Amino acid sequence: DVCVLGSFMKDLVASADRRPLPGETLHGTGFAEHLGGKGVNQAIAAARMGARTAIVGTIGSDRYGEEFLELLSGDGVDTSWVVRHPSLGTGVGLPLVLPDGGNSIIIVSRANAAITPADVEAAADVLTDSRVLSVQLELPVSASQTALRIAAAAGVTTILTPAPVGPIDPRLAADVDILVPNEVEAAALTGLDCDDETQVPVIARKLADEWDLRGCVVTLGARGAFVVDRSSGAEVWIEPHVVATVDTVGAGDAFCGSLAASLASGADLVAAVRVANAAGALSTTINGAAASAPARAAALALLDP
Ligand code: ADP
Repeated sequence: DVCVLGSFMKDLVASADRRPLPGETLHGTGFAEHLGGKGVNQAIAAARMGARTAIVGTIGSDRYGEEFLELLSGDGVDTSWVVRHPSLGTGVGLPLVLPDGGNSIIIVSRANAAITPADVEAAADVLTDSRVLSVQLELPVSASQTALRIAAAAGVTTILTPAPVGPIDPRLAADVDILVPNEVEAAALTGLDCDDETQVPVIARKLADEWDLRGCVVTLGARGAFVVDRSSGAEVWIEPHVVATVDTVGAGDAFCGSLAASLASGADLVAAVRVANAAGALSTTINGAAASAPARAAALALLDP
């Protein structure tokens, strides 16, 4: 039902009291490993929401790649379309986390950057068999463009998360149905300010009109979300759920993955955003990114206690 084209990133997280100076070797205070990448996080979120889910992307022929296949299979995600690059390693992220929660991150895309339009064309069957395709901007634009073109031509609903933030290639926008920026991305794409609540509907409408989208959903962290559905004319604020937040990393991916799953099950855009809003909120109550995506029953229970 859902196909995600996206990245695989193994995070090796060091904690330290400060950043090392140039040339300095500094003792850290902690270490953690996580499996992530927006593609993986969204696919797991969609699968946990009950959608039959496949992921398309590229890993290395290494131990980290194996870890991803194990994790995804454990959540029922179809990994048969994942390409193993023969020489490049799996993508890695090297965050340094400081005591105040601030961070500095080096990411090395490795196999993610090597995915080609031909790799995506080889997965055309799973793209056209899906009801919803979700893509982000962590892979080369040529691969994302190929996937969106194949899916759109087959009538598959397409979702773009414009992250990491940057200008959107107009060749991508033509095949996108629903754009899901967070507040930073929405501001960067329009030059308008999401802090001013009167501007949020203006921003969502502007993006939807400019790119001739079916809909635009602006995610606003602890302020909930705003959705414009041009096919029904609906423009709705989705109020946030009040939850015991411990870690907001991955909230956007949990939101997008569950949005894809709900749309694939036939929900209209506003109804799907309500479920995604619950899933995003619940994901902040658990540490981690991929690991924090909630099950469908938990999201529905939050929506309808
Ligand atoms: P990103 O992770 O991309 O920055 P957001 O922070 O906008 O994305 O979060 C995505 C969605 O998750 C929000 O629209 C909201 O539905 C939910 N969410 C995020 N943070 C919170 C929070 N602190 N309380 C309740 N819901 C939240």
